[in-house]
Amino acid sequence: MSGATPSILIVGGGIAGCSAAIALSQAGARVEVVESQAEWKFASSGIFVYSNGLDCLADLGALDGILDAGFAIPGGRNLYFEADGTPIVETVYPEGRHGTPAILGIKRADLYRVLTTRIAELGVPVRLGTTVTALENAAEGVSVTLSDGTSGRYDLVLGADGLRSDMRARIGIDVEPRYTGFGVWRAVHERPAGLASKIMMMGTGKRFGIMPISDTHLYTFGTVLEEKDAYFAPEDWPRLMAERFAEFKGPAEPLLAELGPESEILYTAVEEVALPLPWHRGRVLLIGDAAHASTPFMGQGGAMAMQDAVVLARLLKTRSVDAALDAFGTIRAPVCRFVQDVSRRVGEAGAAEDEAALAGRSERMRATAQADVNSFYGELGRLDAEADGAIETTERLKAS
Ligand SMILES: Cc1cc2nc3c(=O)[nH]c(=O)nc-3n(C[C@H](O)[C@H](O)[C@H](O)COP(=O)(O)OP(=O)(O)OC[C@H]3O[C@@H](n4cnc5c(N)ncnc54)[C@H](O)[C@@H]3O)c2cc1C
Repeated sequence: MSGATPSILIVGGGIAGCSAAIALSQAGARVEVVESQAEWKFASSGIFVYSNGLDCLADLGALDGILDAGFAIPGGRNLYFEADGTPIVETVYPEGRHGTPAILGIKRADLYRVLTTRIAELGVPVRLGTTVTALENAAEGVSVTLSDGTSGRYDLVLGADGLRSDMRARIGIDVEPRYTGFGVWRAVHERPAGLASKIMMMGTGKRFGIMPISDTHLYTFGTVLEEKDAYFAPEDWPRLMAERFAEFKGPAEPLLAELGPESEILYTAVEEVALPLPWHRGRVLLIGDAAHASTPFMGQGGAMAMQDAVVLARLLKTRSVDAALDAFGTIRAPVCRFVQDVSRRVGEAGAAEDEAALAGRSERMRATAQADVNSFYGELGRLDAEADGAIETTERLKAS
């Protein structure tokens, strides 16, 4: 760390908060975490982690645990099908640094188990069932009062408290999440042994995906336009999910048919948060979904949260807290915005489909799908390299 060891309070123990706790502790900071949930309890379903996220997990010392618990897709294969089950095209995702798998599926609860185990290994204190009740943000540090009645003074406070961030409001940033018009229906199933690829099925204005998440399980996810503020009673979720995606046949059909009262299903309305810079006020910085929640179409929100953590830790190694905060947003915003913009465009293009737009879609996909993957990951790699360059310049200066 640059100068005296900074003390850092992380508010929120989701992907961003857990990753930051690990990265900053590894970098030598004195870190504490407060999480409002009384126990680590995370929404069911799975999550994709692409190679850029897996590279971050390697930096966090958590990759082996993730590879053990999750399912790395052999060859990074993604198979596209029409809704009736007709194959369209196969694409492959790029591997990461030093041959990190291209894409891995994992149950969310397993991802958190691995991250929280690593936090415990590093001896980072975590207070569950605790949140911030008051905050005084001064130039030299932040005085914080917590819901357990204690208080403390920190060099830096991270608001890693997700899309509906209370910390965002506390530092005076008046930005509410924007509903995108999409709902996502997700379910966990036993995995037929032969189903080892990521599958995307193309409906009309709907998508249905299948993703292995362990040796024994997979998860399905369907995206569809839903009314703003729609409420669906959880006991109706199995029936509603099966009805919404009933036109999907082929590999989807047996999975939809088995949905029932015992199924682990989750409905989520998709919202987005796009904050203008700066993402900090004084010594309080927002990271993860609190600053840049994305629609899920590129499966990158979690990776962006992990990358925030890794980048912040690197910046704090060579810069003062204030200089690191100034650099952080400038370095991270282009990458996060790129992901948000592409993901939003993909979602909107899908939602706008009608019969006319569908004519020739499969043909077009056969011609362009792999090029689209290459272009997205090429640009992501370029932006990451640019960010690396900006961080390394200071690292070199400090070393010389
Ligand atoms: C349907 C859907 C599918 C997705 N699929 C993928 C995917 O496949 N791959 C991917 O990379 N990303 C995916 N994402 C995005 C990813 O889930 C998020 O980007 C990621 O979870 C953000 O992590 P976070 O830690 O910033 O926020 P969160 O995960 O929301 O964590 C915030 C934490 O803060 C806690 N908290 C909240 N308020 C307070 C408070 N006041 N005090 C203390 N603690 C508090 C919460 O309890 C929670 O633990 C998906 C998102 C959606 C909606």
